[in-house]
Parts: sequence; structure tokens; C-alpha cells
Amino acid sequence: MPHFVSVTYGAGGSTRDLTHDLVERIQHTTKLDPMPHLTCVCHNEDEIEAILLRYARSAIGNILALGGDRPRDIPYDKSRDSFQHAIDLVKFIRRFNESGAHPDRRGFGIGVAGFPEGHPATPNRLVEMDYLKAKVDAGADYIVTQLFFDDRDFLDFRERCALADIRIPIIAGIMPVTSMKGFKRIAELAGGARLPAKLLRALQGCENDPEMVRRVGIHFALEQCHDLLDNNVAGIHFYTLNRSDATRVIFDRLGIPRRRNAHAPTV
Ligand SMILES: Cc1cc2nc3c(=O)[nH]c(=O)nc-3n(C[C@H](O)[C@H](O)[C@H](O)COP(=O)(O)OP(=O)(O)OC[C@H]3O[C@@H](n4cnc5c(N)ncnc54)[C@H](O)[C@@H]3O)c2cc1C
Repeated sequence: MPHFVSVTYGAGGSTRDLTHDLVERIQHTTKLDPMPHLTCVCHNEDEIEAILLRYARSAIGNILALGGDRPRDIPYDKSRDSFQHAIDLVKFIRRFNESGAHPDRRGFGIGVAGFPEGHPATPNRLVEMDYLKAKVDAGADYIVTQLFFDDRDFLDFRERCALADIRIPIIAGIMPVTSMKGFKRIAELAGGARLPAKLLRALQGCENDPEMVRRVGIHFALEQCHDLLDNNVAGIHFYTLNRSDATRVIFDRLGIPRRRNAHAPTV
């Protein structure tokens, strides 16, 4: 069974309510541990506090604190957000935790985003690492990375984090390709992600055969996962994009309980 299920967060009102409702539904009707994403974008302090109270009342254990993607469909003025960067949200959740409003005296576990290939808005990688380190020092408990297709990018990022004295677990982001459409969409969404020739070649060979594309995607992601587990990764976060069947196949083939107990710390 996965250790957590993360639920993404949009910028518009109705999709946001769907996130809150889904998180509570997972919490109350399954044995899974939901981790809602929460973003600075289009929120003021009172709204964030109300969401935290709602999640605390449902005994939600973890939150992924994010800057948030710029909304595409609605007018947006960043200066109206109470929090300009994810670090401000981390600090706010930390203060909320200290207030004792959460039924668990430890409060929410706080995750933050990390970008093995760098974040497009901060081309200077040294400065970006300083920002990440600041988020960690502000109270993050673990890092969940952007998806990547070349494990060397993740392993190098993990090493750079260690050099920056970042000592919290780093959970790797893996997205199994399940369709050419999804692949193209992710190339757009995860702007800047390197798409290795090995993967492109395999997909090109079968792009008109949806079942083969799915098989290639699963095989590629499975190889990535084996390599990460061999390198003692702290955890793997799958981007399912509403196609969880591929992730289930990978999960089954990995034999995770056996390997997890042998090596990896859990979050
Ligand atoms: C695992 C994961 C899940 C995600 N889920 C969602 C989701 O559900 N909804 C959504 O909208 N988006 C989501 N995103 C996308 C994310 O919100 C965007 O990529 C966002 O631009 C960066 O988020 P962040 O939390 O790193 O923001 P921040 O830490 O605020 O960083 C944003 C940019 O600002 C820079 N920066 C950070 N601190 C400072 C500072 N003090 N001064 C100046 N610059 C600074 C950073 O280097 C970076 O370039 C997700 C990303 C990841 C990796």
C-alpha cells in the first residue's frame, strides 16, 4: 500500500473545493494517508488558516506547501497573495502547528517542492539551492521532487542538497508515460524537464500503438524505480495524472514492502 496519496491543487475556486472534499473523503473512507497540496497563489492568510483548520479537524497528517502555478484562465495579481513564496507558507503552517490547533501535537508534517533539473524562474542554481535550504530551515520535513526521466539528475540533486547541509528525506518524482498525449502535456507542464533520447527513441518506435506506448512507459519508469531503490531513495512519488493503472503495475512489480524494509527510511 502507498504510504501517502497526494492530491493536487488548482487555482480556481471550484477545483479547490474538489481537492478539499477529495482529501477528506480519502481520509475518512480509506486506509490511505492523503497529502493535500496547498499553494500561495490566489490565497490570503485567512483563507489558508481556514483550510488548515478544516484539515486539522479531519486529522490530516501532511501538507505539501507550494508556491503554486500561475493560473492561466483567470486574471491574476501576485501582489494580492498574502504569501509570495512557498517559504512563507511553510512558516505559517509551522506557526499553526505551534498553536496546538492540530489534534496531533506534532501538527502537520510539511513537504516542499524540489527541482532536480532546476526551477525555470531561477536560472542561478546556487541561488535556487539557497532558497530550498531556506525552506528547509523554515520547517520543512521532507522534499518531494519535480518529475524527472534521468535518475542521474535526481542523484546529483540529492548530492547537492547534502552539500548544502539539507538532511531531510528527498522523495523522487516519477511519471510513467501512459500515452503520447499525456507525454506531450507533461513536457509542457514540467517545463524544462529533460527528455532522454533513450525514452524518445522507444516512444517514437510505437507512437501510433497506444498499448505499446503504455508498455514502454511502464518499462522505462520501472527501470528508473529499480535504480532509485538501489540508490537508497527515501521514497518515490508517482505522478499518475488520473491514470493510476500504470502505477499499480509498477508498484506490484517492484515488490516494495520487501525492499523498503531493507533500505529506505519512510516519511
Ligand atoms: C511535487 C510537486 C507538486 C506540485 N503540485 C502543484 C499543485 O498541486 N498545484 C500547483 O499549482 N502547482 C504545483 N506544483 C508546481 C509548483 O507550484 C510550481 O512549480 C511553482 O512555480 C514552484 O513551487 P515552489 O513550491 O518551489 O515555490 P517557491 O519555493 O515559492 O519557488 C518559486 C520560484 O521562486 C524562487 N524563490 C523561492 N524563494 C524565493 C525568495 N525568497 N525570493 C525570490 N525567489 C524565490 C524559486 O527558486 C522558484 O524559482 C507542484 C510542483 C511539484 C514539484
